Amino acid sequence: MTDFLDYAPAPESAAILHLRKEYGLFIGGDFQPGRGTAFDTISPSTEKVIARISSANEADVDAAVAAARSAYDRTWSRLSGSDRAKYLFRIARLVQERARELAVAESLDNGKPIRESRDVDVPLVAAWFFYYAGWADKLDHVGLGAAPRPLGVAAQVIPWNFPLLMLAWKIAPALAAGNTVVLKPAETTPLTALIFAEIVQQAELPAGVVNIVTGDGETGRLLVAHPGVDKVAFTGSTAVGREIAKAVAGTPKRLTLELGGKGANIVFDDAPIDQAIEGIVNGAFFNQGHVCCAGSRLLVQESIHDEVVERLKVRLATLRVGDPLDKNTDVGAINSAEQLKRISEYARIGAAEGAEGWSCPVDLPTKGFWFAPTIFTGVEQTHRIAREEIFGPVLSVLTFRTPEEAIAKANNTPYGLSAGIWSDKGSRVLAVADKLRAGVVWANTFNRFDPASPFGGYRESGYGREGGRQGLLAYLQSADAPAPQRALPVVAKPPIPPRTVRKAAKK
Ligand code: NAD
Repeated sequence: MTDFLDYAPAPESAAILHLRKEYGLFIGGDFQPGRGTAFDTISPSTEKVIARISSANEADVDAAVAAARSAYDRTWSRLSGSDRAKYLFRIARLVQERARELAVAESLDNGKPIRESRDVDVPLVAAWFFYYAGWADKLDHVGLGAAPRPLGVAAQVIPWNFPLLMLAWKIAPALAAGNTVVLKPAETTPLTALIFAEIVQQAELPAGVVNIVTGDGETGRLLVAHPGVDKVAFTGSTAVGREIAKAVAGTPKRLTLELGGKGANIVFDDAPIDQAIEGIVNGAFFNQGHVCCAGSRLLVQESIHDEVVERLKVRLATLRVGDPLDKNTDVGAINSAEQLKRISEYARIGAAEGAEGWSCPVDLPTKGFWFAPTIFTGVEQTHRIAREEIFGPVLSVLTFRTPEEAIAKANNTPYGLSAGIWSDKGSRVLAVADKLRAGVVWANTFNRFDPASPFGGYRESGYGREGGRQGLLAYLQSADAPAPQRALPVVAKPPIPPRTVRKAAKK
């Protein structure tokens, strides 16, 4: 990078954080020590320990499910929709009040740039709670089936790439529909879920309506397999999604799966190139490429391939890679050593398969987990880097000549989560979008999220939708489409004493 484009450091202060040294499990409205083996959550940009995190074992998961059941039976399922809405509005406002703190914690724990956690993740979290708060008292009137009722206790397991946002996608619709929840955050990013637990306390949500159990995949396995849950909602890898589908098969539990992707970003020769370049960068390198719906396969019309690749390299060379807490940073740290290993291995495979790799000319920090944004050109459809989800800042570039070829190549994937189309012609955009087998298709933009817009995949990207009115259907049963009856008894546990529900006036 030339000197005149260099920026002075502009670090966001972490002084706003009031973190505990150790976090317990959030069960029945209080933090309590876990009985599993505790672990550290570290900052991936420095490898420094942030806090010690409890791990939930079987008895803890039992206790969390029992707390959620008790809260469901005693309070939450008995509240009116407008009363549930008041709590959700209160949570949304508290997220806004604590937005800076949440953004700093997210960047610290996950490695994503503060610019993204501050301007994208946290505002969307508040938007999700506001949006579903608005639905809570309208469930009977908007075509959600005859007399829609909640399912009961929802077990929710989420990944590390958008820790707080995935929590909001899960908890907001579940609570709006009248369910109670036990949520397990990913083991490398539990921090904002635990701060969210404090927000739940601050909002004086009845005890047990939201429970947060931390731990690794084993805690997740215990939670989804628990006979006391009525609904399982999972976001994560296709491999784990498959295991969960097997574990839930044959039980009365409802299941939604939001899994991996290998989105095609299609650039036609009549596209506005400057905008398309920004869209390609956003599609592939936003959040270090740790995005299920990333546009990680660029399909560019052959006639403009060389121009697009040249301009893309010029743009990528201006990206600032480094300290996630610096407000100038565009690309932060890779979330874990394990993920860095996986990305590095795919880069090696891409080169071995014959594709040509090019990486941003950046000086990477010596401590922490880093990978320079990389593009591979000359990629064939058979290459593994064109077919498998890398989940990192690596873009595979392929070409096409006709719209039909673009559609065929875009659909030539086991996944079906997202796609993008760049063209000046509205009719072409609509015709191509109609033929793409992807849950979300963006036109002349990429990676845009809105709580009113349903999101979800086809095939190995999972099933069910989150967001919008459709996102509520996953948490409701109705007289004309009842959920299967619970065949197994709930594990008996002492009931959690109900808390006095304060009036929802602002504190
Ligand atoms: P992962 O599947 O390894 O882990 C996800 C969560 O599942 C974690 O909390 C983990 O502890 C837990 N888990 C692991 N094994 C389990 C088991 N046997 N039973 C129950 N829970 C278990 O995924 P990850 O590496 O954390 O996240 C990356 C993946 O998530 C990518 O494939 C990405 O595409 C996907 N993702 C999808 C969406 C979407 O909306 N479709 C959104 C974000 C991420």
